[in-house]
Amino acid sequence: MTAPGALNSSVGTLFVVATPIGNLDDISARALRVLREVSLIAAEDTRHSARLMQHFGISTPLAACHEHNERDQGGRFLARLEAGEDVALISDAGTPLISDPGFHLVRQARAAGVPVVPVPGACALIAALSAAGLPSDRFVFEGFLPAKAAARRGRLALLKEESRTLIFYEAPHRILECIEDMEAAFGGDRQAVLARELTKTFETLKGLPLAELRAWVAADSNQQRGECVVLVEGWQAPEGDEALSAEALRVLDLLLAELPLKRAAAVAAEITGVRKNLLYQAALERRQGAD
Ligand code: SAM
Repeated sequence: MTAPGALNSSVGTLFVVATPIGNLDDISARALRVLREVSLIAAEDTRHSARLMQHFGISTPLAACHEHNERDQGGRFLARLEAGEDVALISDAGTPLISDPGFHLVRQARAAGVPVVPVPGACALIAALSAAGLPSDRFVFEGFLPAKAAARRGRLALLKEESRTLIFYEAPHRILECIEDMEAAFGGDRQAVLARELTKTFETLKGLPLAELRAWVAADSNQQRGECVVLVEGWQAPEGDEALSAEALRVLDLLLAELPLKRAAAVAAEITGVRKNLLYQAALERRQGAD
């Protein structure tokens, strides 16, 4: 199989193949053809993928390519590719590299001039976003939050004023504390969606403000099982004076301590890009509040 646009047909192609995230019907005809025709499938967990291959009657040999061996063993796959064999990269579910192994192999292959071809398909974050009803024109994928509470809260605090839709992967045993921390960081009124067990029998997409979503998950242990994606609506700047971000106000306060009011507002506007009259109004209010 020569990659589209490949210059050097003597090297093989690395196909990055998406597999289902639950419903086996979600595999594409192209993915099945590639998996059948390549010489080798590099799989995150060969035993897991052997069952998938068996289901589709595919007998291509599998070799392990997981986070512990990917960096060191990439050479093995590269040698096969450079010898002209085609290799498919798959993960346990969904699209490889998306919170899954494959990054090092793809990077090594590209650096070696081996064509890398995506064979797109299921991806939990995209499936969740496509059905969540939250703004989808701009979004941020945060992957998994840190498992330790302090680090998780620190990460969420940094995202408080992110205006794009936020998407997180989360383990079921941490889903409740994760939503609790989101409520504390973003406020209980912020709209969120829990997308659970997508494409599977108990698929659930529940959209509620964070405080209500937290109560709903806490009240039903079934919602703390299975695989889940959490989506949170982005921050919306309040109208008027309150529209200033915490960062703009911090800059303004520092300058007010050193400069006359008008000058402080002007310099703050230059630094932050916020309109001068908005900062001037805020500076007046802060000075009045301080009197
Ligand atoms: N590579 C995968 C993808 O393309 O989505 C993600 C792999 S990551 C190790 C696994 C996480 O993806 C799960 O913990 C969950 O957050 C999310 N996920 C995977 N399958 C899902 C499903 N069917 N429903 C909801 N979330 C899912």
